[in-house]
Amino acid sequence: AEKVLDVVDLETHFISDGKVVKAVDGVSFHLYKGETLGIVGESGSGKSVTSLSVMQLLRNTPGKIVGGTIQFGTLDIAHASDKQMRKIRGNQISMIFQEPMTSLNPVYKIGRQLTEGIILHKNVSKKEATQRAQQMLEKVGIPRAKQILNEYPHQLSGGMRQRVMIAMAMACDPEILIADEPTTALDVTIQAQILELMNELRETSQTSILMITHDLGVVAEMCDRVVVMYAGQIVEEAPIEALFARPKHPYTQGLLASIPKLGEEVEELTSISGTVPTPETMPSGCRFEPRCPYAMARCKEQNPVLKADEDGRVYRCWLQEEGSHE
Ligand code: SF4
Ligand code: MG
Repeated sequence: AEKVLDVVDLETHFISDGKVVKAVDGVSFHLYKGETLGIVGESGSGKSVTSLSVMQLLRNTPGKIVGGTIQFGTLDIAHASDKQMRKIRGNQISMIFQEPMTSLNPVYKIGRQLTEGIILHKNVSKKEATQRAQQMLEKVGIPRAKQILNEYPHQLSGGMRQRVMIAMAMACDPEILIADEPTTALDVTIQAQILELMNELRETSQTSILMITHDLGVVAEMCDRVVVMYAGQIVEEAPIEALFARPKHPYTQGLLASIPKLGEEVEELTSISGTVPTPETMPSGCRFEPRCPYAMARCKEQNPVLKADEDGRVYRCWLQEEGSHE
């Protein structure tokens, strides 16, 4: 399969109070054409910072990519200029967020917001862009599309705004759609509809989706493969069936034991006691050690590397060398 994105050894640091926070600490993953890859983890795992790094959206934050590469075609996004990124963002790579109001401008009508990107990236007339905008609204299942073009974001329901944002993100046929908790703020029925819509769009347009979420219900609905992040690092990577059938990393096992029902709002993962380490409490060995039911002496000393075991399962844990633990 063709790789549309190849992230190697990404390091994104934040400077806060003169201290360095390694939000993303040596993360590697790739995305194939037409697949949905899930990046899963609790708040503070580094999953959102990873997605913002891929979009080079750290400019207005204290965050900075300090290492690694993000290969997209012939371009390394980690080292791309603002000018190069403006051509790509919203065109070849789009992003949708949890709260549409943060990416929709409250003072502009929906039509203007949709056509701006189309005119900018596709070099078409305003009339053609408006036609395309209306088509996109129809495609994402918005009734009275023509009328909605003349309305403001606040006149729409949360579910409708999320559809508008997806229409905006998909309007230029992006190769990659990054979705950061896209349905967390929506009620269960709407959430299911939005996920189904994203699946349909992926099938018809062969867009690759990077799905950032803490919700394993969403992962089960959407993803082909999953990367599990913990404290800025990947701890397991697996095809969806394998991950759910036989999670390997103790953290993944804990996540699955606490799997929320689709639509249930669970930010804390209750079956794993303890919390994600802060920079001050970052263990020098395995980062999951303080919460791990299998922790051994060496886990305190050294952080294991992410690698494949003899069955080809990829995870970061000393138990790989101790035999089975299931
Ligand atoms: Fe648990 Fe040790 Fe594996 Fe870390 S390396 S997940 S502490 S068993
Ligand atoms: Mg987040």
